[in-house]
Amino acid sequence: MALIPLIPLLFLDRKVLDNDMKISTDILIVGGGVSGSACGAALMNSGYKIICIDQGTGGPLDTSRGDHISPANVAAMDSWGVLEDFFSIGATKRVGHEFRSSISDLLLRAEYSEMGISHPYFLVVNHEKISSTFLNFAQKNPDFTLLQPYSAKEFDITDGDITKVRASNKDGELIEVSAHIVIACDGATSSIRSALSVDTFEHPYTHPMVAFFSERPDVLKPDDYFFRYSGDYGQLVIQQRMDGTIKITMPVGDEGIPWWKKSTNQERIAIIEKIAPELSGIQAELGGFYPVRMIHAIDYAIGNTVLIGDAAHAIHPARGQGLNMGIASMQTLIPLLPKPDQVADKTAVRRALGAFQAFQKPLNERIIARNHSAAMDMEMGADDNRAFVMKKQNEFLKVMASDKTLRAKHLNEATGYHFGAAS
Ligand SMILES: Cc1cc2nc3c(=O)[nH]c(=O)nc-3n(C[C@H](O)[C@H](O)[C@H](O)COP(=O)(O)OP(=O)(O)OC[C@H]3O[C@@H](n4cnc5c(N)ncnc54)[C@H](O)[C@@H]3O)c2cc1C
Repeated sequence: MALIPLIPLLFLDRKVLDNDMKISTDILIVGGGVSGSACGAALMNSGYKIICIDQGTGGPLDTSRGDHISPANVAAMDSWGVLEDFFSIGATKRVGHEFRSSISDLLLRAEYSEMGISHPYFLVVNHEKISSTFLNFAQKNPDFTLLQPYSAKEFDITDGDITKVRASNKDGELIEVSAHIVIACDGATSSIRSALSVDTFEHPYTHPMVAFFSERPDVLKPDDYFFRYSGDYGQLVIQQRMDGTIKITMPVGDEGIPWWKKSTNQERIAIIEKIAPELSGIQAELGGFYPVRMIHAIDYAIGNTVLIGDAAHAIHPARGQGLNMGIASMQTLIPLLPKPDQVADKTAVRRALGAFQAFQKPLNERIIARNHSAAMDMEMGADDNRAFVMKKQNEFLKVMASDKTLRAKHLNEATGYHFGAAS
């Protein structure tokens, strides 16, 4: 197989790129989901040669997954120059949240404008549009090449470094990429994590999640708020969608997935309206079921490779942090990387990735611990003693709402300002 130099390849059309070939690059991103595509966008104007391999076929992605991007990440996306691209595809804003009891008592209400931050809103974008928008932006960088749909299957590993990655498409066409840095964004079942034998800490949750879509009922106001309802019959969350409809997510209780699958709308609503009375009368269309498992890699940095996003930490969606942790990692990682003219220095690469792990992992441990606590509350909210658990939670929410310090901490964490928002 001929060794083809990288630079001319970047200007060749897709047909030529699909031939069997060997490529050298500075940075190889494996996976073009939210994390990998955000990485590509964040590396705009960085001066590195970048290849991103993604196995997605361009078919529809699961729209029920994460779709609210935190204010801290929105600020980062603005600094990368990609934010306007999201508004141009119809992204909307969520400006606050309300936690309510199942008898519609207000427990906590907050607007992000009270924090004095630069972008006081969550960006609301359907999950399937997030990575395509990041990737379209990244592809404006002449040094960025997307190879899709290619699946990375074989990894040559020497002294802990991934020296070559071989990927193929469905026609069996093969590419081989050598890179100074490998950024593994290949999701919760990461093949790179397995190839590098990275141990994980795992916790399987008992209750899978179920998602529904519906028209927004007129009584659910304001339109640009997130709502959480909890009471004697359990807990659910309601998130606005970019088209004005809503997504409802809740744990599956003893009734089980088969029951929900064959349920009529009337049967669904009989359960849902006991938790959130404002949802009585909706048509709840099933979005999907999600078995939930926490998977946290023991190491993020291994040789010249770094695990990012769900490849490093797949978590319960209880606090809407999964997607946001992947995007937020870029703010730490990219400034630490050796400059393009030093990227061939293996020691500098290992030092940079080690520094990333040293900073990011303890922060993520804290986010994951708090997320796990919320996930366990959600689990208990689907168990028999839920009335007791929800009552305690609701009392605590009222305390938090009225205590200035607790409220500020709650808002900082919810919006991605884990070290506090600069006012
Ligand atoms: C029901 C539900 C609700 C959620 N809600 C929220 C929320 O409100 N807020 C939030 O922040 N998060 C939420 N999440 C979590 C969020 O969706 C994920 O954390 C996020 O999508 C992970 O992104 P990722 O890019 O790291 O991984 P993935 O999205 O899994 O992307 C991995 C990518 O790698 C590619 N890939 C995999 N293997 C290979 C290979 N061998 N070769 C090439 N390409 C490969 C795949 O094609 C894919 O594009 C939710 C999740 C669920 C299930």
